[in-house]
Amino acid sequence: MIKCKKWRREKYVKTGNASGKQRYLCKECGCNFIEGDKRTNEK
Ligand SMILES: [Zn+2]
Repeated sequence: MIKCKKWRREKYVKTGNASGKQRYLCKECGCNFIEGDKRTNEK
């Protein structure tokens, strides 16, 4: 399950693709994150 990097929420919308990966926009804090991007995960 993908989660927001800030609040770790699961409310997000798809905003497009980046380098072949799905990009999401968090609906709670407004941050952007990418599927499989380890840098945005916890630690
Ligand atoms: Zn967020």
